[in-house]
Amino acid sequence: MKLGEFLILVTGAAGYIGSHVNKLLHDEGYQTIVLDNLSNGHEEMVKWGEFVRGDLKDTKLLVSLFKKYNIEAVIHLAALASVKESTLFPQKYYTNNFQYTRNLLNIMEKFDVNKFIFSSTAAVYGEPESIPISETSSLKPINPYGKSKLMVENLLSEKSKSSDFNYVALRYFNASGADLSAEIGENHNPETHLIPIVLDAALGKREKIAIFGDDYPTFDGSCIRDYLHVNDIAIAHLKGLEFLNNQKSDVFNLGIGKGFSVKEIIESCEKVTGCEIPTTVEDRREGDPAILIADNKKAEEILKWKAKFNDIDEIIESAYNFHKKLG
Ligand code: UDP
Repeated sequence: MKLGEFLILVTGAAGYIGSHVNKLLHDEGYQTIVLDNLSNGHEEMVKWGEFVRGDLKDTKLLVSLFKKYNIEAVIHLAALASVKESTLFPQKYYTNNFQYTRNLLNIMEKFDVNKFIFSSTAAVYGEPESIPISETSSLKPINPYGKSKLMVENLLSEKSKSSDFNYVALRYFNASGADLSAEIGENHNPETHLIPIVLDAALGKREKIAIFGDDYPTFDGSCIRDYLHVNDIAIAHLKGLEFLNNQKSDVFNLGIGKGFSVKEIIESCEKVTGCEIPTTVEDRREGDPAILIADNKKAEEILKWKAKFNDIDEIIESAYNFHKKLG
């Protein structure tokens, strides 16, 4: 049976990654139903599928959706995703990210929907023991955000062992860039991520960019991250859906397997935008490991997924094209 004949429920599709997943599914002929409470997302990012505004805690609403639509699989991206906020309001993170996911899983179970793709994070690893980080590295998240995501992963693992439920958990490294159409992209409020902040500085919307620490044990002293294009992340969700047809479950890192320092990102933004970007060096941000780079071999071998965007300038240019439109 072709999966595309059924509906895919995408939670959080008004958000940055979710909107790209939703677009790709649509481009590939899938029909989607989009659930988002717009707490962080934007309705104008939902240009495809049927949009339902609502919360995952709203059991009645979820039941009505599963009754109304022939939902084949759920791609679950709706979550709170700010590390800093999670340290300030841990309960909010455990409730939203764990408890509401459990609610969704309960209702899926009632309706016998047993394919699930979960948006996880490199934050489940905490301080890495070695670089690159493979899926078998120890899982020691150091903030409530990473911990709440790991709690869901643990639940999924137990659930899949005890039933015919299958899942794919995708541990994203640093999502970046925007769709080449520039109609969707990254737009958080407040923005905390490096690339959009640097682009804001290039566009004169910020005076300067603060480099959080230049005394890390890296080649230039600033933190190194694995930035991967959001469309490559979206493709991995599609591969995940195909993988679920094998009735198996697994966990995959998503990264390009290469890192760039904060200073290199700023240089690339200067090159792409043609603007000089003023910088200051500030204290290290709490909970920032020096280097996070994915070992992506498992996704390559099993999911047959490989990042198409490898050039950081190209990734940043796609982000810039969207960013300019934000005004
Ligand atoms: N960063 C920075 N200045 C900023 C925002 C971020 O130096 O204004 C650094 C941050 O400390 C980290 C890297 O940029 O080393 C990527 O941060 P981001 O928040 O984009 O993603 P994270 O790695 O935290 O998921």
